[in-house]
This record gives sequence, C-alpha cells and structure tokens, in this order.
Amino acid sequence: MSDREARVVAQVNKTLFLGGKWREASSGSTFPVEDPSTRKVLCDVADASKEDALEALDIAAEVQPEWARTAPRERGEILHRAYRLLMERQEDLAVLMTLEMGKPLAEARGEIAYAGEFFRWFSEEAVRIEGGFSTSPDGKARFLIMRQAVGPCMLITPWNFPMAMGTRKIGPAIAAGCTMVLKPAQQTPLSALALADILTEAGLPEGVLSVLPTTDPGGVTEPLLKDGRIRKVSFTGSTAVGRMLLEQSASQVLRTSMELGGNAPFIVFDDADLDAAVDGAMLAKMRNIGEACTAANRIYAQSGIAEEFSRRLSERMGALRLGRGLDDNVDVGPLIDDKARQKVQGLVDDAVERGAEVLVGGGRGEGPGHFYRPTVLANVPFAAELSNTEIFGPVAPVMPFDTEEEVLHAANDTEFGLVSYLYTRDLNRAFRVSEALETGMVGLNQGVVSNPAAPFGGVKHSGLGREGGRVGIDEFLDVKYVGIGGLS
Ligand code: NAD
Repeated sequence: MSDREARVVAQVNKTLFLGGKWREASSGSTFPVEDPSTRKVLCDVADASKEDALEALDIAAEVQPEWARTAPRERGEILHRAYRLLMERQEDLAVLMTLEMGKPLAEARGEIAYAGEFFRWFSEEAVRIEGGFSTSPDGKARFLIMRQAVGPCMLITPWNFPMAMGTRKIGPAIAAGCTMVLKPAQQTPLSALALADILTEAGLPEGVLSVLPTTDPGGVTEPLLKDGRIRKVSFTGSTAVGRMLLEQSASQVLRTSMELGGNAPFIVFDDADLDAAVDGAMLAKMRNIGEACTAANRIYAQSGIAEEFSRRLSERMGALRLGRGLDDNVDVGPLIDDKARQKVQGLVDDAVERGAEVLVGGGRGEGPGHFYRPTVLANVPFAAELSNTEIFGPVAPVMPFDTEEEVLHAANDTEFGLVSYLYTRDLNRAFRVSEALETGMVGLNQGVVSNPAAPFGGVKHSGLGREGGRVGIDEFLDVKYVGIGGLS
C-alpha cells in the first residue's frame, strides 16, 4: 500500500457504529477486509453478532418516536451537510472504495458523486412530505390523509456499489424520519463505516443509524426481521437472498423494498445510430467492471448490423486496460473474488461449447488479483447459459436476431425484469418496444439509467418498490387516514 492508501485506511473507524458510539463487537471478533487487486488484507473490522444487532435495535426503537418528530427541515439539513462532506472528501473516499472493491478510481469518484446526489435529492424531499384533505362522496365526512415514518428499518446493501446503495436507502429513511440498522456487505464494510462518520459530523442524532459489519449476515438480520419492532426491510442484492428475506419478513408482515438481480437485454436495431449504440453498450456493459445489476447481459444485434456492431465493440473492448484500479490509466479492475471469476469463466466456456466465437479476451488477466479480461463473444445462441444468468463480469455476448417480434420474445424470456436498453431511430418502434419490454426501466438510446431523481427498480424477480425519484421516500412512509365525522 502507498502512504496515501495507508492513510485513507487508517482514517476509518473499524469498529461497530452502534447507537452513535464506536465500539468493538461484543464477542471481540474481527474479520479481514481484502483488496481484490492484490488479495492482501487491508485491515480487520469488528464482526457483529446477534447480540450486537439486538442492542442496535433496542436503540433504534427507543429513538424512533423523537426522531420522527424532528422538524423536516432539520432532517433535510443533516442530509445536505452530509452531501457536502461527501463531496469534500470525494478523493479519499474514492481511494478507500477502490481499495476494498477494486473499481477504477475514476469510477469510484463517480460513485461518491452519485451517492452524494441521493443525499442532496432527499434533503429536498424531506420538506415535501404531503398529505391530503377531501370531502367524502356523500358529503358527510372529511378525509385527512397524513404520511408518517414507517418506523425502525433494516437496511442491507451489496458490495458492488458500497456507498451509493447505502445512501439510496439512508437518504430517504432520514428524510422520512425513520431510524435504521445498516448491514453492509462483508467484502466492503469500510465505505459504510466512513459514511457513518460523515453522517455523525453532519449532525445525525445518536441512535438514528447503526452500522453492523458482520461475517454472519443471516445471524444478524433474521432476529431483527422477526422481532416485531423493525417495521421495514430494504434490501439490495441477489434474488436468492431477497426471496429468503421476503419469507422471513412475512412473520411480522414487514414493509419490504427489494432491489434484486438483473439480466438486461440490450437491443440494437438495424436503423440505430451505430456509434451511439457502441458507446451505449460500452457503458451498459462495462460500468463497474460489468458487476452491476443494470449491466447489459444479453446484447441482441439485428442481422443487418450484427457483424459490424460486434467488430466495433471488440475494438473498443480490446483497447481497455485491465489492472489495479488505483494505477494510472486503468479502465477495468478485478472481479470481487475468485468465485466470481470462476463463474464468469464457466459461462464463457458454456457459450463457446455451444458455438459462440471469442472475438476478444476470454480468460483470466495477469497478476494476483481476480482479473478477467474484457471479452466479446459473437454469434452466441439464445440457449447459452448466460442468457439466464447474471454474468456480473466484463463479458459482452452478442446474439444476432432478425425480427422485432423474435427479439422481444427473447428479451422477455427471463424471470428478471430490472432494465432493458434499446437503440433505434424509428419513433414508432421506440415506443412500441419500450412498452412491450417487461422491465422496470428502459434505456432508450442511452446506456445508463441510474439517476437519483428517477424511480429505480424492477418488476418480476428483479424486485419490489422503487428507490430515488419522487416515489423513493414513499417506501419509508405509511399512509394514515383520519375520517372526520360529526360535521353538520
Ligand atoms: P448477495 O445477495 O449475496 O448479498 C447482498 C447483501 O445481502 C450482503 O450485504 C450480504 O451480506 C447479505 N446477505 C447474504 N446472505 C444473507 C442472509 N442469509 N441474510 C441476510 N442478508 C444476507 O448479493 P451480492 O453478491 O452482494 O450483490 C450482487 C447482487 O446484487 C446481484 O444479483 C445484483 O444484481 C444485485 N444488485 C441489485 C441492485 C438493484 O438495485 N436491483 C443493485 C446492486 C446489486
């Protein structure tokens, strides 16, 4: 580690953040956090247990009523100060994120800015929690509609966007007046711990947020979900874990937000602007090393342009530089761990066995890290295993198609429904296909849909609820109606 890297790691509190205090795990246990580029241990972090989690819940439940009564403007100002602090510390936080997660530094900077925008957006939403007032249809009663904080929340986040997936939940929870217990991913606890520090400095009252890194996610979260005092769980991660959390949430009938896996189709029609489509495919595929729920997983190119599109995409992918995200001029970092790399290799092998052609890449990169080379596969048959599996790596499979009907059928032939992309210059087709795609989001002639001001989320097995946009705060509010009678 360079001096700068060591300084950035040294700055982070590595204990639990419990009820506004930093303290060791009650068991005294810690676990190592690794740099996926070097496989060296960066530091050890406190390992929370069920006892710590129940203590965090006691505090969250105790603080909840008073926190919900805090003036909305005050909650908004805490978020705005936190936004400014994130941006002031963008550089150090980006280095920290690259160290624990591997993404190139420029992308880590981008994620800090994206993460900060959730705080800015919800600082503005905190003062716009509106209700309603109306007269009943028979004229005899009045309806007063109010929206109130749901109560203590369990927040669970993944490793691929260690900062933004946290602020996307913490922002609206603070704006709505909810207390919360955050369990970050084991691979990337440092960004979440740094965030707790920033929120404290921004004035978040003690006990509103606890952060519990752990090697025993189920052991820490399940007792809380079954306790009865947690009123909501907001989860971002795989569909398999999301499904299990939904089952656990049933016992206390919890409100749930589920941002789950994706399998995005990226469709390029013959009439598309091919330069724009290649630019869009690079973004949709390679953002975050391909480790994004929004990643283009199946690239469908119409037969008139399939060859030319694959050629141009291969040129661009072949020019990318693979390496440690903190080194200069690196475009693509390592995968998160060896399991991820083996999974990607298995999917490439399967596609090749079924007749796909490797145009570029197709194997592990050099060095001790979990590197996989940017890869383009041409003529991938629809039946390849990667059609039904999130690749979560830098592999772009191009599948040729002939007709709109055929590609729509293939695009929708999956249990996932997070996002789809389509490139065409035909306005009728743009609307027709956008309406027919079974996904919560569509990128029409653009390769990125994530925006704090827009409602992010999926349909089918990709999840429930939306994060960001005007509806993002609704996930943390209950609707109450007061019927007013006795009027003459
Ligand atoms: P994961 O489901 O393995 O883990 C996500 C989180 O759940 C982690 O904090 C993990 O510790 C926790 N977890 C694991 N087992 C648990 C259990 N038994 N009980 C409670 N918590 C448990 O997913 P991951 O590998 O960290 O992230 C990648 C997945 O996340 C991909 O499927 C990706 O598509 C998805 N994702 C979705 C979105 C979205 O907005 N839809 C965004 C980012 C990532």
